Amino acid sequence: MGILVLNTGSSSLKFSFFDDQAVEVSVGGEVDWHGQDHPSELIVRLAGQPERRTPCDAHEPGDAAGLAIRTVKEALDTDRKFTAIGHRIVHGGSRFRQSARIDPSMEAELGHLAELAPLHNPPALKAIEAAEAEEPGVPQVAVFDTSFFANLPRSAAIYPTPWEWHEKFSIRRYGFHGISHAYCAGRAAEILGRDPADLRLVVCHLGNGCSASAIRGGVAIDTTMGFTPLAGLMMGTRSGDVDPGILTYLMEEHGLTADKIEDALNHASGLLGVSGVSADYRKVEEAANSGHDRARLALEIYAARIRSAIGAFAATLGGLDAVVFAAGVGENSATLRASVCDGLDFLGLRLDPARNAARPRDLDIAEDDSPARILVIHTREDLMIAREVRRLVAMA
Ligand code: ADP
Repeated sequence: MGILVLNTGSSSLKFSFFDDQAVEVSVGGEVDWHGQDHPSELIVRLAGQPERRTPCDAHEPGDAAGLAIRTVKEALDTDRKFTAIGHRIVHGGSRFRQSARIDPSMEAELGHLAELAPLHNPPALKAIEAAEAEEPGVPQVAVFDTSFFANLPRSAAIYPTPWEWHEKFSIRRYGFHGISHAYCAGRAAEILGRDPADLRLVVCHLGNGCSASAIRGGVAIDTTMGFTPLAGLMMGTRSGDVDPGILTYLMEEHGLTADKIEDALNHASGLLGVSGVSADYRKVEEAANSGHDRARLALEIYAARIRSAIGAFAATLGGLDAVVFAAGVGENSATLRASVCDGLDFLGLRLDPARNAARPRDLDIAEDDSPARILVIHTREDLMIAREVRRLVAMA
């Protein structure tokens, strides 16, 4: 009948239903919950109809998954079961290097992995349990954000720390947002009409979380996120890379606990921390435009870090055929794209200002004679997950 995709985060669950082999979502939406004190909301999007928002009483990922499943069935007006349900799982650790059918032993392993990704995997596990209860017997598939980076070259994956940390504690660069980076790499080749095997790409996924990756011949060879999704670029509330010496200094000299530091780096840093205005790029941009100095600085750091990543990865790749901008900020902010590309002519990147300003989607916005191309791609993690689910179910 079709594939249901559930993407469970810490305060929202996005759902997308795809008929058979469809590329477009026929029923999609989101359940948002922000703790007991705030009303939760169900958002439903049906193809060709205006979005519908209603209050709901889901307050955790399990409730949300059940509600999403019932909502999709109601919209489809059916009692039939789904062909399969796909889940986005942030962390596959070293054990899960590719998408896989979920069975009880895998669930137990994912539970252990919660230790590596305490903020990320537990909500998805709750959604899996709820989906099993709601739709017993329907195959469920886990698609990992880490898979695309599971085979990074050792020089990118291994941190220059004591070897023991790697062996005993599984410390390595895992990389995240892989579902989006993999989709963008494939889509970039389609848009350019080139063989993926011939392309050297830097993909910049810039949403609430931000990461860049270096992709050669369709294979990821480096990425900015690391052992956790806290590393690399500056994000909405996450710091990205900081000198690790800062952390031990704050602990020893100012008595900050590990919990406090983790909370500050994850939730009070990035655009929010520097600007003091918001984690939302649009709001920081508005404040900067009205002369707010720290908002302006936040945008400068944000763009500078992306520019550095592109430069570093161009060196890693031995040249550059295209840069991709994707996700909320990358797809929508022409000023961010212009600011990042400013000064990168030496890498062959020449942005066409008119194309950049014309709300591009799945388009090349470089000048005609730009040696390297600049693409804006509407990333489709939902579709990528649905494709993986179809592939695995067809194999069974
Ligand atoms: P998530 O990582 O949660 O999926 P998104 O990909 O939706 O997040 O990205 C959210 C970010 O995109 C927010 O910072 C938001 O301000 C930004 N964004 C959305 N629309 C625009 C826009 N038109 N201009 C600039 N930034 C935008």
